[in-house]
Amino acid sequence: MEFLKDLGLKKNMPGVSTGTRWTTHKNGKKSTICSPIDGQVIAHVQQAEPEDYEHVIETAQKAFAVWRSMPAPQRGSILRKIGDRFRACKGPLGSLITCETGKPIQEGLGEVQEFIDICDFSAGQSRMLYGMTTVSERPNHRLFEQYHPLGIIGIITAFNFPLAVWGWNAMIGAVCGDVCVWKPSSRTPVTAIAAQKIIAGVLEENSLPEGIFSLLAGGRDTIGERLLNDRRVPLISFTGSVAAGRHAATSVASRLGRSILELGGNNAIIITEHADLSLAIPAVVFGAVGTAGQRCTTTRRLIVHQSLFATVTKLLIRAYKSIQVGNPMSATSHMGPLIDRAAVKSYLRALAAIEKQGGTILYGGKVLEGQAYGTSRCYVQPTLAEVENHFPIVQEETFAPILYLIRYRGDVARALALQNQVSQGLSSAIFTTDYRQAELFLSVVGSDCGIANINIGTSGAEIGGAFGGEKDTGGGRESGSDAWKAYMRRQTVTGNSGSGLPLAQGIKFDIP
Ligand code: NAD
Repeated sequence: MEFLKDLGLKKNMPGVSTGTRWTTHKNGKKSTICSPIDGQVIAHVQQAEPEDYEHVIETAQKAFAVWRSMPAPQRGSILRKIGDRFRACKGPLGSLITCETGKPIQEGLGEVQEFIDICDFSAGQSRMLYGMTTVSERPNHRLFEQYHPLGIIGIITAFNFPLAVWGWNAMIGAVCGDVCVWKPSSRTPVTAIAAQKIIAGVLEENSLPEGIFSLLAGGRDTIGERLLNDRRVPLISFTGSVAAGRHAATSVASRLGRSILELGGNNAIIITEHADLSLAIPAVVFGAVGTAGQRCTTTRRLIVHQSLFATVTKLLIRAYKSIQVGNPMSATSHMGPLIDRAAVKSYLRALAAIEKQGGTILYGGKVLEGQAYGTSRCYVQPTLAEVENHFPIVQEETFAPILYLIRYRGDVARALALQNQVSQGLSSAIFTTDYRQAELFLSVVGSDCGIANINIGTSGAEIGGAFGGEKDTGGGRESGSDAWKAYMRRQTVTGNSGSGLPLAQGIKFDIP
């Protein structure tokens, strides 16, 4: 694991940092992080304790007082430097992401690129934190809106994008003048430590105070719950499963805090009778198999017109047979392991449920063992199953490479109804060359998801758009477009430059 050295990482590391300073306790609990590729130990990470939490939050409060007063374009130039530093580390950091999550190296590198892109985006955004000016109904009055920094942003992230999701939140939050405290997934703290170390160099070189970007690698009960319930943290950005997100949202709401929720998906692609299958098939395969089905935007359901069902099934089985499952560090592997044994168990549970509920496994369905798959026992076959949309198992998000094939008859409105008949609402796509079908999909009676794509798959969003979903996916928006507004407090200002005091709505209130 040469890349660990390149990133300045050691076998034993503290998991608490205020940006430039790391905290260690003599007797702090350690968590051993192993690669799902082959079970090898990557590092032992000392977990954050409650006293670390207090120190980190107090330091962040002090840093906020400094950071918020720095002109936004100056903050932007710091983020540009951070992006440059990540550019220089792209190779080793991409390898670390692959090693810690098991995603193919192309996807590990892609995740670092996504972080770099969001740094560039934030640097540009630093000159565009626009407020709106409108007209007042009163003479000599001015009415406008402005945006101010909010405070400490608590960022709780999932294992499957151990760098990019933090980047969407931390870089956008930082350009807005906020400071952030990050609780990464307990399964992927090493990438978080590496990112924190890269940032530390930029903070030091620019004589910035500690506390702008902090890290608390610790448990959900010791650290996660504290963040959710802390009134000093006005915004929690939570990325994870629907169940955990529901709990997070309730906790934050009970103290009247704000949350941005990025929760699970149950994404569908519709293939209509007018689809160009030379586009649709590769998009479906990448969407279902990429990251071993462990993306929030993974294609889980394929809703196919009856007239093409047999052809699509045949083409998919042929494509699935050519998928190389193996060490994700190898450029020829399409799919690496699942994150851990618990994920393998949930894959097997889903397969049993499919058969029990009346579905048919068309391809795959096995755990892969043997020399080629190391000793981690986390490799599985990508799987195709024919099901009906109403099966309870199909209504759930199983975080594994299982693609459900569902047939529809009649017009595309039937397919749309099936697509929308799940509780989640993240990503959706349609493959059609028929303009009317595409417009229906995008219309008010079309897809009810936060992301709606035409002739491309459900996964692999660009950072320039706002990212997020509806219904049980939580309604949050992150990354590009005007997502930055959620990280600021909005203020409406009315100024009177006249010599009278006219009231709005023409109300008279004369004091004799
Ligand atoms: P998870 O829900 O198990 O954990 C997510 C994070 O929440 C972790 O950091 C975990 O420690 C923390 N957490 C869990 N319970 C908590 C609690 N009670 N208090 C505080 N923190 C708590 O999810 P996971 O298995 O890491 O990730 C997979 C899930 O994340 C999938 O459902 C996937 O769809 C979703 N996800 C969504 C998006 C999105 O943008 N919509 C992106 C990535 C992943």
